[in-house]
Amino acid sequence: MGSAMHRSWSHTRQETYDRCPRALYFAYFPWGDPDQNLARFLRRAVTPERLAGTIIHDMIVIGLRNLMRRGDYPLGLAKNGIEQYDETLRISLRMAKTVRDGRKPPPEGACLFHHLYGVEDVEAEQRGRDTVEGCLTMFETSAALEFLKTTDTGQWERVLTDTDNIPSFDAGWELGFDSAGGLRVYAAYDLALSHEGDYILIDWKTGSKSGKSILSSRRQLAAYGLWAMCKGKSIEKIKVQAYYLNEDEPWDPQPLNATDVANAIAQIEAHDAVERATTTPIPDRFGTIVKYEADRNDFPAKPDVVKCRFCAYRSICAAGREVFEGELDLAS
Ligand code: SF4
Repeated sequence: MGSAMHRSWSHTRQETYDRCPRALYFAYFPWGDPDQNLARFLRRAVTPERLAGTIIHDMIVIGLRNLMRRGDYPLGLAKNGIEQYDETLRISLRMAKTVRDGRKPPPEGACLFHHLYGVEDVEAEQRGRDTVEGCLTMFETSAALEFLKTTDTGQWERVLTDTDNIPSFDAGWELGFDSAGGLRVYAAYDLALSHEGDYILIDWKTGSKSGKSILSSRRQLAAYGLWAMCKGKSIEKIKVQAYYLNEDEPWDPQPLNATDVANAIAQIEAHDAVERATTTPIPDRFGTIVKYEADRNDFPAKPDVVKCRFCAYRSICAAGREVFEGELDLAS
């Protein structure tokens, strides 16, 4: 039996569930599970592309914070980004060896997924490095940065890194939720600002533009729009854009689509219903709910050779180990 202190919704949580409910269990309900320590460590196991995405986002945060405070976006952040990327790769190799030798996983730090499994993937590592360099270099001359330099940075919301507290709202009837009952919905926007009467929400994209990624980002941005509506912004004034950093992207935030918002509400409610059916709220002696218990068997594994190959939880998932029989078993 595993548990978590909260039940909530986020774009990442939904994506994890859509990929495989068992992966959601490992990611969000690990406390008390026999594989608790490993599950929590594996949650930080990333692909080179994902690591590149995190570093790009963090570097842009550094640059935009500088723009807010000093009126200047520092050039050359690509070099810092690549240095950080390479340093993380070096640390990851050492950390992976520790875990592969059977020692306790370290409580912090990201580990590259393929390092954990002792696989060399020089090409993927180089692709990640190229993505860091390409996205951060292109951002310096992007239409987005050109526009942002003309805005009043006093009208920006806080620019957040991955480790900051993510903004959230309680899903309630005033936003159109019928059944959420206080569900926390997280809105990890990359940039939010007021400008000439509009309220603009941006999500930086480091991958390539595809039909699938566009659909996914519409859902993501609609949830951010709900957060803005919760803050009192009118839907007519909210504009959103998924900004692809490795394309020659125009600055073109579009009005928030009411159908996307309705779809986001329906999806959040549907997911809330799933988690309410599969978790048990545990109250303390005063009746306050202190955690939600979950049984991993209520979160069915959906083994699939492609999904399991890149799933961080493969080593603690019986179904995933069957798909990749013979590979390193980190849980042993
Ligand atoms: S290894 Fe496969 S079946 Fe197991 S949690 Fe991951 S995606 Fe699901």
